[in-house]
Parts: sequence; structure tokens; C-alpha cells
Amino acid sequence: KASDALPLPLYLTNGIFFTLFFSVAYFLLHRWREKIRSSTPLHVLTLSELAGVICLIASFIYLLGFFGIDFVQSFISKPEADEDHQNFIIQEESKIHCPLPPLPSAGISKAKSDVELPEEDEEVVKCVVSGEIPSYSLESKLGDCFRAAKIRREAVQRQTGRSLEGLPLEGFDYDSILGQCCEMPVGYVQIPVGIVGPLLLNGCEYSVPMATTEGCLVASTNRGCKAIYASGGATCEILRDGMTRAPVVRFQSAKRATELKFFLEDPLNFDTLSVVFNKSSRFARLQEIHCGIAGKNLYIRFSCSTGDAMGMNMVSKGVQNVLDFLRSDFPDMDVIGISGNYCSDKKPAAVNWISGRGKSVVCESVITGDVVSKVLKTSVASLVELNMLKNLAGSAVAGSLGGFNAHAANIVSAIFISTGQDPAQNIESSHCITMMEGINEGRDLHISVTMPSVEVGTVGGGTQLSSQSACLNLIGVKGANKESPGENAQRLAGIVAGAVLAGELSLMSAISAGHLVNSHMKYNRSSRDMS
Ligand code: ADP
Repeated sequence: KASDALPLPLYLTNGIFFTLFFSVAYFLLHRWREKIRSSTPLHVLTLSELAGVICLIASFIYLLGFFGIDFVQSFISKPEADEDHQNFIIQEESKIHCPLPPLPSAGISKAKSDVELPEEDEEVVKCVVSGEIPSYSLESKLGDCFRAAKIRREAVQRQTGRSLEGLPLEGFDYDSILGQCCEMPVGYVQIPVGIVGPLLLNGCEYSVPMATTEGCLVASTNRGCKAIYASGGATCEILRDGMTRAPVVRFQSAKRATELKFFLEDPLNFDTLSVVFNKSSRFARLQEIHCGIAGKNLYIRFSCSTGDAMGMNMVSKGVQNVLDFLRSDFPDMDVIGISGNYCSDKKPAAVNWISGRGKSVVCESVITGDVVSKVLKTSVASLVELNMLKNLAGSAVAGSLGGFNAHAANIVSAIFISTGQDPAQNIESSHCITMMEGINEGRDLHISVTMPSVEVGTVGGGTQLSSQSACLNLIGVKGANKESPGENAQRLAGIVAGAVLAGELSLMSAISAGHLVNSHMKYNRSSRDMS
């Protein structure tokens, strides 16, 4: 279009040509009337009339090009375009066509319908299988999430030739996940939930749900809880609480990138930036901004409190507000991505380990020598030695990043799954250094876990689903804390750290006593015939 060729904003070019067209048309009509009145021949043109005719033709062509071509094209090229589209689909299909390997005669169940479908659903299944109805559109087309899942499941079985028998369909509220937790559902996976506790933490008793399929894990963590309880409990402190997001922006020069860095990190600008940022939510409060530079690219790490939400959506909205605001003072700033990995979400990164992300928690307990020998079946000295050689020196030899622990990730993931957290954030949430020291002349054990980036929430995401919110309810941190927003999420982070402390204590004891292999053979290995 002509408008694309002109280096002016669209509204300006359109305005100019509209004005030109109508004013020239008015001028020429006026002249025409004059000529008729004075009986001057119409084809005799003055210079201004000639210019007027040229302008009229030019503006007419522009306006036709702008408004007319799409309209005409929609008639002319529709069948052609559809054909192209079909060709594209056929080509793509032939390109990616990958026949399923033949089913082995045993082991894999062939597709067989595990649900009865009424006639009308049968029709829809056929349309999904043939590609007439896209599978993803079933919920919106049918307006019934359960029916959509049932039809999709049947279509998947027919398309793949494989059975989904064993994956439950019924007994799940598919409406509750629509638009926020999972797309194109065909059922749900069952994960057993075990309970450990009471975990005595900051003077309160908690029963902690753990969703896992690893035998021994719940039993072992429970033993750790028992040891903590018998020793008078554990205490935990929240060191900081802030979710982070770091967009990457690019400039023409490192000098300009540095100017923005100084602008953002200048305390004098903080109030203005936080007013802009905090508009994202009642609960989002900007805490700090740290910038990293790579040449002319700037990584801006925003950190903010997010109430009881884990906070990724909240912080991202706040960051977007600030980027929009910065455009007026830094029009040459090119936003490459809202996340530039300096955040850093769901990846092992030193920035989280050092600066923290989500909740930074430290949890400690003194386990009496008596409990160490009677409950944990080991000694303080051997635990301290093992911790030094395994969790500290061993992890250093391995070049670990935040992995100075025995199995924090085991406990973190199990609690994350049961309480509806984002399981992928287990990566940084499991960063943990476990310290052990003999105190009271080596009779008792001081143990602590320090976890700088526990990312949890009690509202938003998967936390509102019925099973997950039942688990949060058991701990006493379901939903938003009305009196003191953020307290539920912080308490949950403390409980995660407390359970990790119990898990560390128990596993380390099992290893130091040489019990690990035996107990795993007993509880973690199926006695069923796998062949
Ligand atoms: P996330 O940022 O963890 O992805 P969302 O921002 O999507 O979570 O969800 C949090 C929602 O819950 C927001 O709409 C927020 O206004 C609301 N909310 C209600 N009470 C609270 C609270 N106490 N803390 C945080 N958010 C809350």
C-alpha cells in the first residue's frame, strides 16, 4: 500500500489525503459551476485546475489503494488463498507424517474405547479425528469441559491406536483448570499423597502432605520430623521475600545501556518507578532493581513482594508497566524480551543462589545426642563428618550450584506437587546448603538448612484446584491471608524448609549408619515381577 511507503504515521497520511481529496473535489466543482455560468468550455484548464485534477487523481488512487484493495482482494483471492492453505497443510502433513511403530503383541494395550459415547459425541469424535474440528477448540465449541475432555480422549485413542485405560477421566473438575492450569485435558494422573509430621516449627505443629511415588521418602522425612519434635522443634526465619523478573533490552551503544542502568539504579528515581510498577496489583510492591550488562544489552532484574501469590504474573505485569513508562525517556530502547534469563526462572543460576528469589529461608534445630542415637540410629560425630565430606566438600568437587545438601529436591518437589506449586520451580527452590555442627562439647547436633529461593504461593496457579487446596488447608495456609497478605505464602515456605530439614536429618543419618541401601531395598523396590 502507498501508506506503507511513506515515512509518516498512518493517521497523518490518511488525514492528508482525505483533506486533499475533498478540498480539491470542492475546488473543481466550484470551478466547474463558474465555467457553466460564464459559458467557458470545460476542457480549457487553468494551471490551478490542472494541479487540482492531478491532486484529485493522486488522492483517489491513494484512498482506493488503502481502503479498496483489501476489499477487492477478499473476493478475488479467497479461493486461491484457501487452496494455498490446503496445499500447505498437505505439504506439512506429508513432511511430518511419521507412522507409529507397529504395536508389539504384548505389553502395550491397543486402543479400545473405555467410555460409552452417545451418538452426537461420536459425530464430534469423528470430526476431531478427521481434523475438521481442532481438538483445542472443543471446550469453547461444546461449552462443557468434561464432555470436551471425554471426546478428545476418545479421539486421541483412535488417532494413536493406543489405549488410555488406567488414566482416570471421571472425578475431576475440568472447569477448574480451563484457561489457567492445563489445556487439552484427556484425564489426570494420580499421585499418592503421604503425610509427615507433626513437624514442630516455630512452636506450631504441622501435618505436611507430600505427593510422591518414591518409596521411603515419606517414611524417612517422617522420621526426621520425629527427631525434631523429640528435640523441642525447629525454628525458621524468612530472610527476604521478593519475586523477580528481568527483561532484556538493547541499545545502539553500551553507553546508552549504561545510562539506563544508572537511571534505574538511582535511588532518586525509585519512587517514580515503584508508582508505575505497583499499578500491576494491590499486592505487588517494587523492592529493588539490579542491572546486568552484556555489551549494549541491559538485563534489568526487578524484585517485588507479591502477597500470597508466587508472583510471576504479578511481577511480569509490573515490569511491562515500567518498560512502557521508560519508552518516553529512552525511545531508542529496544525491548528484546520480557524475560532475559537474569530473573532466573526454572534454571539453575548463581543469581538466585546469591541474591535469592521468592522466599529466602533459614531453618535450624538442635537435635539432642540422645535422639540422634535412639531415633536416628547414628552419632553426632559421624553426621557432622558425613555432612562435611558429602554435602560441602563432595558438592564442591562436583562443582555444584546450590546443591550443598543430600536431597532437598525430594522434599521440595513432593510438597510442591501436593500443594499446587509450579513443579518446574523446584530447580531453584531446592537450592539449599545443609550445615551440621556438634555443640555442647559434641554431645548435641546443630543442623540448619538455608534455602535462598523457595518459590511458593497459596493463591493463583494450581493452588486453587480442589486436591491441592485441600492439602494447603491441612497445613493451614489455604488461600489469601486477609489480615496480613503474604503471611500464608511465607509460612508455607518455612514449612518447606522445615520438612527439608527433617529430610536431610533422616537421610544423612541413614547414610552415616549404612542403612540406606537396606531400607530402599525394603521400601523403594517393587516386589512385583516386572518382566
Ligand atoms: P501469580 O503471579 O503467582 O501467577 P496471579 O497474579 O495470577 O499469581 O494470581 C494472584 C491473584 O490473586 C491476583 O489477581 C491477586 O490480586 C489475587 N489475590 C488475592 N489475594 C491475594 C493475596 N493475599 N496475595 C496475592 N494475591 C492475591
